[in-house]
Amino acid sequence: MTTAWRATVLTLFPEMFPGPLGVSLAGKALASGLWALEARDIRDSATDKHRSVDDTPAGGGPGMVLRADVLAAAIDAAEISPDRPRLLMSPRGRPLTQSMVVEFAAGPGPLIVCGRFEGIDQRVIEARNLEEVSVGDYVLSGGEIAAMALIDACVRLLPGVMGKQTSGVDESFSEGLLEYPQFTRPQEFEGRGIPEILISGDHAKVAAWRRAEAEALTRTRRPDLWAARGGQKGTKSTTDG
Ligand code: SAH
Repeated sequence: MTTAWRATVLTLFPEMFPGPLGVSLAGKALASGLWALEARDIRDSATDKHRSVDDTPAGGGPGMVLRADVLAAAIDAAEISPDRPRLLMSPRGRPLTQSMVVEFAAGPGPLIVCGRFEGIDQRVIEARNLEEVSVGDYVLSGGEIAAMALIDACVRLLPGVMGKQTSGVDESFSEGLLEYPQFTRPQEFEGRGIPEILISGDHAKVAAWRRAEAEALTRTRRPDLWAARGGQKGTKSTTDG
């Protein structure tokens, strides 16, 4: 049987996995074989007697750089089939978006290289065709948490992972919009009620209300997203008053 969606992670700290990916939705799906996770130790590909994986940066400067030869050997040893994306978590990379997540989730699952220290030797990025992906404009101390974010976002979209198959359809970014506000019981909380429309039972009105809220939120909080979808005129929102 061919395995389902699979993430292969190259890291100096394989003991960090599955970590948070081993609980809740992702963890249950992992245990039941809906996806597979392989965390491989880059250090296993070191060749000298100290098993060193890094060295000082050429040209000087602080910190250490992961060696191209060791990392290339680790990538080769993982024997990744050519149809799988080869990613490097990196603050210089293409910012991860929900549409990229949808694409990664639809494929066979990526190889993900996690950097540490000052980063990795540029030559292995080119020689092994690594696609750099960032989780945001800030610097983490290693690629592992970034890899977990990417994997988690993919796994929840895999068939059978989320309770209701529809729950991925409406949420933030699915149409270039942020999600509308959610409410549940109790009916009243510290003097605050639930918007009347949501308890009206009128599905069309509920849908229209949610749409208007999502648009208003996106317009005010994320003008970048709003502009990217070309805006939308003539929709009156209840949060605008
Ligand atoms: N000196 C590098 C940062 C190295 S941080 C620079 O200035 O670009 C060490 C490792 O953490 C990186 O190699 C990368 O794998 C990971 N990392 C840090 N921030 C990240 C981010 N925003 N997105 C994805 N990976 C990140």
